[in-house]
Amino acid sequence: MRTLIIGLVAGLMASTAAAETTVIHADGVITDADAKPMGRATVTVTDGRIVSIEEGWSAVPEGASMVHLEGKTLVPGLIDLHTHLSGDPSGEFWRTATTPPEWKVIEGVKNARLTALAGFTTVRDVGSRTDQVMQSLRRATEIGMVPGPRIITSGRTISIVGGHGDYGNGFRKELDPVLTTGFNCTGEVECAEKVRLASKYGADLIKITATGGVLSQQGRGLEAHFSDAEMRSIVTTAESLGLKVAAHAHGARGIEAAARAGVHTIEHGTYLDERAARAMRENGTTLIPTLMAFEGIKKNLGTGYYTPVVEGKIRAVSEYASTIVERARRWGVNVAFGTDAGVFPHGENAGEFALLKANGMSDRDALASATTGAAKIIGMEGEIGRIAPGYSADIIAVDGNPLEDATVLEDVDWVMIRGRVIE
Ligand SMILES: [Zn+2]
Repeated sequence: MRTLIIGLVAGLMASTAAAETTVIHADGVITDADAKPMGRATVTVTDGRIVSIEEGWSAVPEGASMVHLEGKTLVPGLIDLHTHLSGDPSGEFWRTATTPPEWKVIEGVKNARLTALAGFTTVRDVGSRTDQVMQSLRRATEIGMVPGPRIITSGRTISIVGGHGDYGNGFRKELDPVLTTGFNCTGEVECAEKVRLASKYGADLIKITATGGVLSQQGRGLEAHFSDAEMRSIVTTAESLGLKVAAHAHGARGIEAAARAGVHTIEHGTYLDERAARAMRENGTTLIPTLMAFEGIKKNLGTGYYTPVVEGKIRAVSEYASTIVERARRWGVNVAFGTDAGVFPHGENAGEFALLKANGMSDRDALASATTGAAKIIGMEGEIGRIAPGYSADIIAVDGNPLEDATVLEDVDWVMIRGRVIE
């Protein structure tokens, strides 16, 4: 019996010794975008999880490390629901034919760190040009080998033949076997097969291009691409595998058709009209507006940076960008935070807050859209988006109060993801 007790005590001591505790002192804590902020407080983190939040600065237990953030406010780590970490902005579409997948890995590692340092502790990465880059980066940031956010990834994007996402567009047909992603499909059976293939390769969600897109060489406009039957096949197959579907969509009828087919989020939503908004409302579809993407591409207009076909599409969508969110909210559509980083430089994601405000969103709603609201979209509302006991220790520190001015989030001073401080 005595040996047993000693054994138990030794076991307990071993587990205590192994536990890593960090005590964070700050002058303010926003535990939840919808709660009243706390003043000076102590947040204790053990083994990557938040254990407690107490008023005042409490003593640091022996063996714990300490982070002193005097004058700073702690905020739940931000969530960007629309990024492309494995790519940097480029108007030179021919680079698709000259860039090896290995280079996308290097860009991805660089961008993961930049994104984390900007305060984004989770991203939903919706479309990579290479097969396993994002799945590998997801693993590397999870175990801490590469500094970066928690990654939820679709891997490849599923599109129609010759649609937005078919990288053979604009090239000689002899190059098609090299440039095609293998994730184009025609008909219900083939589209279901591509969803299963994406799942097999480790996708956390399915991304489709439901309409034409702005930055591709396909010149067929911005309306619906898939047939209704194809989209329904994609959604039901994805749901049978426990996966949600994110649909890139610009044209109003394409948005409406995707919402009726049951996709979970509409990305961009440029030409949203009242009819499309009703379809979204009735199907519980959320809009991810990506205002930073529109802002980013506008800057290069008239400089010869884009090909004429792309330049024409940018001019067509630009005037709608300033009212996307305002329209969605007026018609009762839920909006969550996503930027399309990769279309503009990674690390500038928080620029979206100023644009959401200019689109009529309050500071509090803007912060909620990037924390609790975004967490709900990826089914992680019990894990991230709040500073609360039991939640993952995804915490950032800023000067000022983002509930009074969300643009203070453009300058993040300190970042912790899963209990690890990002350097
Ligand atoms: Zn995108």
